[in-house]
Amino acid sequence: IISKLPTVGTTIFTVMSQLAAQHNAVNLGQGFPDFPMHETLTGLVNKAMQDGYNQYTHMNGYPLLREQLALKTARLYGTSINPDTDITITPGGTYAIYTSLTTVLQPGDEVIVFEPAYDSYIPNIEINGAKAIRIQLTYPSYSIPWDEVRKKINMHTRMIMINSPHNPTGAVLSAADMQELSAIVEGTNIIILSDEVYEHLIFDGLQHESILRYPELLKRSFVCFSFGKTYHCTGWKLGYCISSAELMHEFRKVHQFNCFSCDTPKQVALAEYLKDVAAYTTLGANIQAKRDYFRSKMADTPFKCIPSHGSYFECYSYADISDEPDTVFAQRLTIDYGVATIPVSAFYQDRKDDKVVRFCFAKKETTLDMAIEKLKLL
Ligand code: PMP
Ligand code: GLN
Repeated sequence: IISKLPTVGTTIFTVMSQLAAQHNAVNLGQGFPDFPMHETLTGLVNKAMQDGYNQYTHMNGYPLLREQLALKTARLYGTSINPDTDITITPGGTYAIYTSLTTVLQPGDEVIVFEPAYDSYIPNIEINGAKAIRIQLTYPSYSIPWDEVRKKINMHTRMIMINSPHNPTGAVLSAADMQELSAIVEGTNIIILSDEVYEHLIFDGLQHESILRYPELLKRSFVCFSFGKTYHCTGWKLGYCISSAELMHEFRKVHQFNCFSCDTPKQVALAEYLKDVAAYTTLGANIQAKRDYFRSKMADTPFKCIPSHGSYFECYSYADISDEPDTVFAQRLTIDYGVATIPVSAFYQDRKDDKVVRFCFAKKETTLDMAIEKLKLL
């Protein structure tokens, strides 16, 4: 067989989770919570199954869930979207991203991607015969160098991908960034893919600069979300995409013959759960408390914090501890010290590594305590 992705290996998240399991390490690598999700929501799923919601739902998503998401969009971002034409429920955020790219990309198209980049982006571009144009975020603020973006745009540029709050760094885009983006795409046919799976997990009083706040940008965007991340149930693999009716019409052509429809009982449960605005207004504070706890304890270790303002993650420099490449350091940390992390070079194609590893702090305090006791031994 001729590989369509000859340079792709096994994702770093699986590699590190397997290593953690093998060495019985505390797993602060792959991003998943170890605390229980909200029991009201699990109760609603059980109820939906008992009430008989066990067959295919609408291929674009359970209509009442799409209605609730449209209400949420209006409340939080002041933008009115049509639940019939502008939203599709997907089996996870990754799938929403893949489908958006597949909907648009033709061989030879260029897609601007910022590194460190979540690891599914570039293979998803390349499987469509398109080319990733990588631009590195400025280290250590992890901000977008807009001048460089302007230089890389040409007649082949088909899409720009953004991600805020950002994985792996927890960096957050500002209103000024959105203005830069608007100015760059104006008058072009460039489409934006905005990965907003951490939309609610934003800290320090910052406002999430969703594309959904900018109706002019939304006309040319696919905005991708994940219920798994939002409601601490990553195993659910349920998400959604919001776009303009015109783009969504094309997205659905791809979706209908790839997946058709998603898990019904969970959609029924979410439609009920989202009726209470507390379902999305309290999430950031809860996760910020975990970040604050983790950060304060990490101050007792030799790691240097690179502050996160959102997501499940915070990056730390180990430059004062070791000269090893980050993949070697992360392996040694797992095997010898019993704490798994993610080496940030995995999110780059080609960079002299910065000696930075990513920690997932979306864990019980006891788990974080256990990890920190081990890290203090370094
Ligand atoms: N984008 C980013 C930045 C992520 O961290 C993740 C992982 N949650 C996803 C997309 C995919 O989300 P899902 O698990 O719903 O596919
Ligand atoms: N998004 C999660 C992370 O960054 C992992 C999801 C996955 O393993 N694909 O750790």
